[in-house]
Amino acid sequence: MLRYAIAFLAFLLPATAAAHDHDHDGEPASWSIAIHGGAGTLERSAMTPEREAAYTASLQAALDAVAEILRAGGTAEDAVIAAITLMEDDPLFNAGRGAVLTFDGGISHDASLMLGDSRAAGAVAGISDVRHPILLAREVMRDGRHVFLSGEGAEEFADDTELERMDSEWFVTEPRARALERFRQSVVSHADDDEHRFGTVGAVVRDMHGNLAAGTSTGGMTGKRWDRIGDSPVIGAGTYADNRSCAVSATGSGEYFIRAVVAKSICDLMLLSGMGPMEAGDNLMAEVEELGGSGGVIVVSPSGETAFSFNTSGMYRGRADSTGVNEVGIFGD
Ligand code: ASP
Repeated sequence: MLRYAIAFLAFLLPATAAAHDHDHDGEPASWSIAIHGGAGTLERSAMTPEREAAYTASLQAALDAVAEILRAGGTAEDAVIAAITLMEDDPLFNAGRGAVLTFDGGISHDASLMLGDSRAAGAVAGISDVRHPILLAREVMRDGRHVFLSGEGAEEFADDTELERMDSEWFVTEPRARALERFRQSVVSHADDDEHRFGTVGAVVRDMHGNLAAGTSTGGMTGKRWDRIGDSPVIGAGTYADNRSCAVSATGSGEYFIRAVVAKSICDLMLLSGMGPMEAGDNLMAEVEELGGSGGVIVVSPSGETAFSFNTSGMYRGRADSTGVNEVGIFGD
């Protein structure tokens, strides 16, 4: 447990100590957002200054765009969509353009969105030609007949929307192609390759109107086969939002997050046992670790308190709120 708490403190200190105090002493934030861009093995020594600067700038740009929406009274839904669509277009992240590749070198996006006031939700899995998978998840939610669509059926559903479509090559980047090559070799050599799933994106928001929302978008894991679906589009595992308890977006080894029903369980701990977002997040990450999984979560409470909990050496992350908190982080040490 201590590891998670230390990771959390490391995120806050030293630059954000004042913001941390403010969080605890002051009135609740009227709006609040936390974002992630994936978690995994990420050593400071393996990160070039250029790469670190690029990730930091991307996270900050997403955070700033969303903060502006929320400051102007925008909804949690709009804020989550804005953060995720920006990161989906950013080739640095494993979502939209820049998503990891399947074993056959293809694209297979998963995404989900949930609103805390109505608990309306929409999710899509295994889609390959919608520019913004999170927008298709929103269309499914708005349509309301179903919660979860997959593969060709989901794309057929997309045909009835105005959503922008792309050739699958548009999503493919050079670094992801190289990662697939390394993955294929590691399968042969049985080497462990953690890089294969870095960069899933997610956002959790509390807006001025008191509503929560959460969203997650990913290409999944490099080299995935057999139409494998991870936790990201699974409501309750990778994404959950309920105004009474919390909003969560997860990233990591999806199979374990599904088995531990991470996102909904964090909200349940907060609702039923009165835990704060940090403690509840740590509890579920401890469970994931016990099962053998790794990754992290971002959580926002109904009062706008945010938390990051992860058991990996790094998680791309950021948060901002109406009290002046505005920070991004990468490493956990
Ligand atoms: N959770 C995602 C999945 O399992 C991958 C990730 O977050 O890195 O598909």
